[in-house]
Amino acid sequence: MTPEALDLSSLRPRLPSPLREAEDERFGRHGVRLLLKRDDLIHPDLPGNKWRKLELNLRAAAGRAVLTFGGAYSNHLRATAAAGRLLGFPTIGVVRGDELAGRPLNPSLARCAADGMVLRFVDRATYREKARPQVLAALVAEAAASAGRDGTPDDVYVVPEGGSNALAVRGCVALGRELREAADVVGVACGTGGTVAGLAAGLGPAQRVIGFPVLKGGFLGGGIRALQDAAFGAPAGDWTLDDRFHCGGYARTTPELEAFAADFEDRHGMPVERLYVAKMLYGLTTLATEGAFPPGTAVAAVVTGQPDSAR
Ligand SMILES: *Cc1c(COP(=O)(O)O)cnc(C)c1O
Repeated sequence: MTPEALDLSSLRPRLPSPLREAEDERFGRHGVRLLLKRDDLIHPDLPGNKWRKLELNLRAAAGRAVLTFGGAYSNHLRATAAAGRLLGFPTIGVVRGDELAGRPLNPSLARCAADGMVLRFVDRATYREKARPQVLAALVAEAAASAGRDGTPDDVYVVPEGGSNALAVRGCVALGRELREAADVVGVACGTGGTVAGLAAGLGPAQRVIGFPVLKGGFLGGGIRALQDAAFGAPAGDWTLDDRFHCGGYARTTPELEAFAADFEDRHGMPVERLYVAKMLYGLTTLATEGAFPPGTAVAAVVTGQPDSAR
């Protein structure tokens, strides 16, 4: 395999991703403009921030097998598996939860398998410890062996959970650059925080980012600082987190969030992904309603993904 074969740009991404203004009186009433940054339209199989996070990693992998980690519904696992199929490199997915082994695969994992990803299920206690070097080494060796590979660094390129490492963060800088001049405030949903870490670094000095964590716990700030340190050697950009909109935690929802998302779809004719995008839009809309943005502010909402039903 030649390194060129792992150039994601050969898949003709829609970049820069489209940016369009949305008329919404909850913003307009306060003299605020709402813009939708449609990263979900970058590529049908590798949508949103997953494209931006994988691009430099796949170039670095240069044809080796790519081994990565995720939960049973991970968009990152799906995107990695799809890239493997489209560009012709082997993929191995280490999945949280050994109770899933031997059961029928859910639709998300079935897609991964159909795209050729070898799936290896790991008990939750071990999975949680995977940042420890010995645990990671053992997991990589085992999973690689189950895919018939030796698992050495020459053979397997390891991408952390959610795809967030220094290269992923650097890949998200372009998102910030695409939004320069376009907005004063940018909103983005956060899982691991890799996207907000890179986005903040790509914006201009007068712009700021608000990240909306979808996990409960308030622990994300330290992770974002560590990712920026790994990617740039220093803090970068103006970012804050608003922890009020996780709605109970990952994949949790509330009747208010569901009603908000359904209404947003009606108003704007755009499918709203519920795990991340709905919480970010709900957060930005609440902030606008609270008068948090001065009149004249342009707010860009990064649409990081689409619901499965829309793909
Ligand atoms: C993965 C994902 C995110 C979170 O990205 P992080 O870089 O992990 O913070 C946000 N939105 C969607 C739709 C995702 O799939």
